[in-house]
Amino acid sequence: MKNPTREPLATTSKSRVSMPGAPAKSSLVFWGFLACLVGLTWLRIDLHKAGGSLVKSANAMPSAPAEEEGVVIPLNTGPAAAVPLAVTADTVTAAAVVERVIEDTLGRAGSIYLSLKQHKVPELQIARLGNALQVVFDAKKSRPDDAFSLTLDSANVVVRFEYTPAQRPEYPILVEREGDRLVARQSKRPLIDINQVLRVVIKDNLSNAIRDVGESDALTDIVADDIFAAVIDFHTDPREGDELELIVVKSYLDDRFIRYKEVRLARYRGQVANHTGVLYSDLEGRDGYYDEGGQSLARMFLLKPMDYRRISSRFSRRRFHPILKRNVPHLGTDYAANQGTRVHTTARGRVTHAGWNGGYGKMVEVSHPNGYRTRYAHLSQIHVRKGQSVEQKDVIGRVGATGRATGPHLHYELIRNGRHIDPTIVNKSGRGDPLGPQSLPAFAVHRDRLLAQLPAAKAEETIQLADVGAVGP
Ligand SMILES: [Zn+2]
Repeated sequence: MKNPTREPLATTSKSRVSMPGAPAKSSLVFWGFLACLVGLTWLRIDLHKAGGSLVKSANAMPSAPAEEEGVVIPLNTGPAAAVPLAVTADTVTAAAVVERVIEDTLGRAGSIYLSLKQHKVPELQIARLGNALQVVFDAKKSRPDDAFSLTLDSANVVVRFEYTPAQRPEYPILVEREGDRLVARQSKRPLIDINQVLRVVIKDNLSNAIRDVGESDALTDIVADDIFAAVIDFHTDPREGDELELIVVKSYLDDRFIRYKEVRLARYRGQVANHTGVLYSDLEGRDGYYDEGGQSLARMFLLKPMDYRRISSRFSRRRFHPILKRNVPHLGTDYAANQGTRVHTTARGRVTHAGWNGGYGKMVEVSHPNGYRTRYAHLSQIHVRKGQSVEQKDVIGRVGATGRATGPHLHYELIRNGRHIDPTIVNKSGRGDPLGPQSLPAFAVHRDRLLAQLPAAKAEETIQLADVGAVGP
């Protein structure tokens, strides 16, 4: 996902406090660890409060039921209520003069607590803010680049706190002092969805071609993983001059691109691969991608069990074995990849073996419906156990060189009813469910409406942006 560019929030600040730079890369682990500790401590404070003096003050003040709108958290609750900083309603009013505004984005640790602490916000105020905030926002979901603006009065007491999550900026959170309480509310700002037609020409690979037209890797992921994962191997199939056309809905907030909402149509016209994917909801309301004839692009098996560098050995019933020095069949596909690369299941199923298996080294075997089994061998690590259910694309282990292997690679086998078959050809038969005859007429109308948006002629090698205006949700 492209990080939306961060713009400073509007401010009424008397003073703007800036943040020291993000910690160096080498100390990332340290900060992560610290953030965990700090997060735990914060949680513990909250728990302590909940079980402790908050109960005591329940008579005096309404407790905090989870309303839709916002929740009232008394300012002076908690174990620190006896501390001199605790203020009565009167003193709050007297002191409610804005003294400083802190604006910042969260650092690599993605911790609100850490950030506030770096700005020397008093612990008690952080705890109160945490109490108010937790009702509408789970602090564990804070992330690097989330932005906040904190207003404190002259007594260093929180007046206002505005928080904008970087990934979901349409859901800002506002904590405001109301009387002697802090009230937190989450609101929703409307996104504007724009339908765009993109035309991409492949030079070397998909990712670069999509970047060339100013779009991000998140779009590459949608095209390669969500739409064409079972029918186009973007590692091997693209050729220079291949063409990809997309109808994509992009969401904006205040002129700022936020995310790709959906790709409604993708048409890949290439020398090796030729596929069209139309996003369509079937009668049960399930979204899926279908080719122009209404056949599902989903397949029982993914084309590959991981991102690999190259195929080092293909399926062959007869092959000269480099270690055994004789002809033995190679009943699988070898994918060269770096040690530790994640290996995922190519189809849904159940783990039938997870452990050492002779020359296979550390191996995972998964059984699938219709008599299929897959094997993933020479792993360095195994992340599943026997009997476990797995979904398509679950990570089951890491590439290694255990067993009879000359270097790190994945040996991948596909077996049907006890017989090894070539994994590269199985998807040609095992298709997903096509749309039923009842769905086809409506599908055809939908498909044609989308296809009509594509540029009719093969124009020059530039992007064509046909902004056809805002579309509904
Ligand atoms: Zn092999």
